Amino acid sequence: MMETITSSKQAMELEDKYGAHNYHPLPVVLAKGEGVYLWDVEGKKYYDFLSAYSAVNQGHCHPRILQTLTEQAATLTLTSRAFYNNILGPFEKYITEYFGFDKVLPMNTGAEGVETAIKIARKWGYEKKGVAENEAKIIVAENNFHGRTTTVISFSNDENARKNFGPYTPGFIKIAYDDVEALKTALKDEKVVAFLVEPIQGEAGVYTPADDYIREAAAACKASNVLFIADEIQTGIARTGSLLAVCGNCTCQGHCEKQSTYTQPDLLILGKAISGGFYPVSAVLANNDVMNVIKPGQHGSTFGGNPLGAQVAMTALEVVRDEKLAQNARKLGKLFRERMQRLAEKSDLVKLVRGKGLLNAVVINDSEDSSTAWDICVALKENGLLAKPTHGNIIRFAPPLVMTEEQLHDCCDIIERTITNFKK
Ligand SMILES: *Cc1c(COP(=O)(O)O)cnc(C)c1O
Repeated sequence: MMETITSSKQAMELEDKYGAHNYHPLPVVLAKGEGVYLWDVEGKKYYDFLSAYSAVNQGHCHPRILQTLTEQAATLTLTSRAFYNNILGPFEKYITEYFGFDKVLPMNTGAEGVETAIKIARKWGYEKKGVAENEAKIIVAENNFHGRTTTVISFSNDENARKNFGPYTPGFIKIAYDDVEALKTALKDEKVVAFLVEPIQGEAGVYTPADDYIREAAAACKASNVLFIADEIQTGIARTGSLLAVCGNCTCQGHCEKQSTYTQPDLLILGKAISGGFYPVSAVLANNDVMNVIKPGQHGSTFGGNPLGAQVAMTALEVVRDEKLAQNARKLGKLFRERMQRLAEKSDLVKLVRGKGLLNAVVINDSEDSSTAWDICVALKENGLLAKPTHGNIIRFAPPLVMTEEQLHDCCDIIERTITNFKK
C-alpha cells in the first residue's frame, strides 16, 4: 500500500523501518524546495546550506531547468546508446565547448565518472605510455573522497567507508594532500599513469590547498608524462567562485582565454550540479589523445548520455552562465568568511573558517568525536537553517549560488545567533 506522509515523525519512522541504515540524516523531513529555501512536512521554512552536497547550485526547482525537464520527459527519455539520439550530439558539442575539451564521455553518478576516469587513465597508460599490462599505478591524496564503489573505497582512508568491504582494488598510491614534494617523489615511479585529486577536499572538511598547489601538481605530472585528473564533482560548476576550481582566480564563464590562472586537467570529472539537482548526470572530459583510447564496447552505461539528462544538463549549465553564478559565489563567499571570521574572534566555539567561493567550512572548537557540531546543526535547524557536519567537528556551509546578499546576511545572523546562544 502507498502511504501518504502527514507528519515528519511518520516519514522518519518509515525510513527507519524499511530503508537500509546507510545514512544518519539530520531529523528534518523535507517536502518542498524553491531557490535557496526548503520546507518540511509541517510547513516550516529553512535556508538550505548544503545544496544536496553542491548538486543544487542553481537553486531548488529552477524554473528554466524544470521546463526543459518536463518538455524533454514528454518527448523522449531513454534510447540506450545502441542507437543515436537527437540530443546527445548537441549536448556533447555544448559541454566540450563550455569547458574547452575535445571530447566528453557521459555517465550518471559521480562515482561512475571517477571509475570512468580511472579506466581511461589505465588504458592510456598501457597503450600510450607503454606501462606493462596490469602494472599501472594511480596516485591519490590522503583523506580523499571520490565516491562509494568498491574500487573507489579501496583508496579511501576513511575506515568507516572501507572496513569489511575488501578485498581492495590494487594499483593506488596514497600521498599527503597539498604536498607537491610528496607528489614529485611518487611520480618517480615509472608505472604511475595518473594523479587523481580534488582541487579542494570537500568531504574531508573543505581543505583548501595552497594557491599554487594545483598548478604545480599539474606541471609535475606533465613533466613525468602522467595524467592529471581533477575530480570537480563538488568544486565545479561555479561553486568555488569560478567555473571550475582549477580556474584559480579567474571568473570567466566557459573556456578561459586568459590562461594565467587556469590549469587544464588531462581528465576533468564533473557531476552533481551539472544537472542542477534534477537528474543524475556525470561527465568525463578529455582531449582526443586521451579520450580516443576508448573504443566501442569497452565502456558504457544504459542511462549515460540519455536525451533527458543531456537536455537538462545543457539548460543547467546555461543557467550557471546566464545568472553569473560564479561571480555571485565569489562575492558572497567573501562576505560569508568575513562574517564568520568576526564570529570566530568573539566566540570560543568557532575555531576558524576556511573555503573558497560558497564552499566553506566552520571548524568547531571541540574534539573530532564530540557531538558539538551535530548539536549546533540541530540548533541551526530549529532556527531555520540546514547544514550538516562533516568529519566530526566541521560544519560545511554551501548554500545554492542563487542566494542574494540580503539573504546571506540574514543567514549569517542566524548562524551568529545560534552559536552565541549555544550551550553544550
Ligand atoms: C559527491 C562526490 C563524488 C561521488 O558522487 P556520487 O554522485 O555521489 O557518486 C565523487 N567525488 C567528489 C569530490 C564528490 O563530492
